[in-house]
Amino acid sequence: MDTLLQRRRLTLILCILLSLSFAAVSLISYKASRRTIEVALVEKELPLTSNAIYAELQKDLIRPYFISSMMATNTFLQDWVSSGEKDHRLINRYLQETKGKYQVFTSFFVSESSRNYYYPDGILKRVSPDVPVDKWYFRVRQMPESYEINIDYDMANQAMAIFMNFKVHDRQGKYLGATGVGLSMDRLHRLLGEYGQRYQKNIYLVDSLGEIRLSGHAMPHRRIQEVPGLADAAGAILQNKVENLQYRSAQGQTFLNVRYMPEVRLFLFVEGREGDAVTKVKQALYLNIAICIFIVLLTILITDLTVRRFRKRLEVMATVDHLTGLMNRQAFELISDKMLAESRRDGRPVTLVMADLDYFKAINDRFGHLTGDRILREAGALLQASVRDSDVLCRWGGEEFLLLLKCDAIEAERLADAMRCRLLTHEFAHEGRLLRITMSMGMAALQPGDTLQTMVDRADRALFIAKDSGRNRVQAGG
Ligand code: GH3
Ligand code: MG
Ligand code: MG
Repeated sequence: MDTLLQRRRLTLILCILLSLSFAAVSLISYKASRRTIEVALVEKELPLTSNAIYAELQKDLIRPYFISSMMATNTFLQDWVSSGEKDHRLINRYLQETKGKYQVFTSFFVSESSRNYYYPDGILKRVSPDVPVDKWYFRVRQMPESYEINIDYDMANQAMAIFMNFKVHDRQGKYLGATGVGLSMDRLHRLLGEYGQRYQKNIYLVDSLGEIRLSGHAMPHRRIQEVPGLADAAGAILQNKVENLQYRSAQGQTFLNVRYMPEVRLFLFVEGREGDAVTKVKQALYLNIAICIFIVLLTILITDLTVRRFRKRLEVMATVDHLTGLMNRQAFELISDKMLAESRRDGRPVTLVMADLDYFKAINDRFGHLTGDRILREAGALLQASVRDSDVLCRWGGEEFLLLLKCDAIEAERLADAMRCRLLTHEFAHEGRLLRITMSMGMAALQPGDTLQTMVDRADRALFIAKDSGRNRVQAGG
């Protein structure tokens, strides 16, 4: 396991580095994109939508507020009430005109002295403190403020309406009753719903107590204090201290823009979510990660294959002589040690033969080093072709070769002499000429207590004798 880890260390480090850098780049760009979307939403989209809706609501909510406010200070109304509410047609016409001219849902006046509820078509009823639906009037009568906004059932139109209830006083400040107009809830509902659809936002109106008074879509909560994520900030919002807020709702990260409409004492809430843009950014992130994983895997594969190829090449380079392609000295030493140990154990004979090309220096001198190299290669190939599978051949150095033959000295001498003859009869070409070279060989048979070194020493001595005795011969060793 350890060696596997070590062997794969480069791949592992590369993989970690690549993954980390890819992950970092992907995350940074993802965060940056999300931030851009957030900034666009909070700083541009939401305030712009809020402004547009505010302007529209101005027409629909604030205009009725001004109409009602004007009705409360209308001198005709004050005079008519003060003079005893005599001709009902006058008040009816006045209420009809107001309704028609400003195109509101309804208009009304409730007189304090007669308790008559006047509406455009006449007298709707007489209000009484004992009737629950009339409670609003007695609340308005008592309230310190000059007006209120009340969402209530409109008996005249048999539908829910938003009433602007203004107190009416005469010039001396005497309380005369309550007047105002009513707006269709349905219409505002639809309006908020349409805006919501058009701008892809949640739009709702909240009163100063946090109650959600009007919304363009179905709201699961009645008060903002009950909305998870928003409850904590409700206090600050209602004190008009918060304009932009970000919270986690059931639908995800939500961005809220709040604007107070002082005339109607309502807060306009416009909510947006990151939505599609973030889904796209998320998809881009996943795609990035998938590409990164693919690249990392590809890199691992390529690195692994390259490292393997180089390792193989290194292994070959470490064991093979680069000129002749024969086994080199280091590999031979390893293999021969094993062969000698086996022979000693099995009691089988092994003979070492050292071969040295004759007068090779002269060949180099006469025909050049390149021809020398070529002859060395060819001689190596000839030797290789002559040895059996069980034997081992190497280039020991220079123009010397070592052979470890799995046979006794007599058989080895026969084999060595055959090799010598083969080389002798071989024609080496050089610039159209044919050259012949010879080699001398010294042998050493395995003896008890031998190591490769002692055998090499004996074979070397035998080789010296072969050279000394005229070369081109095989000399048995001691
Ligand atoms: P001897 O018959 O006594 O062996 O004579 P020699 O000239 O072969 O012996 P010596 O050891 O004096 O010279 C060996 C020569 O082999 C010298 C060296 O230049 C040459 N030689 C050794 N390695 C290489 C090689 O890789 N390429 C070539 N072209 N020549 C080499
Ligand atoms: Mg030599
Ligand atoms: Mg030589």
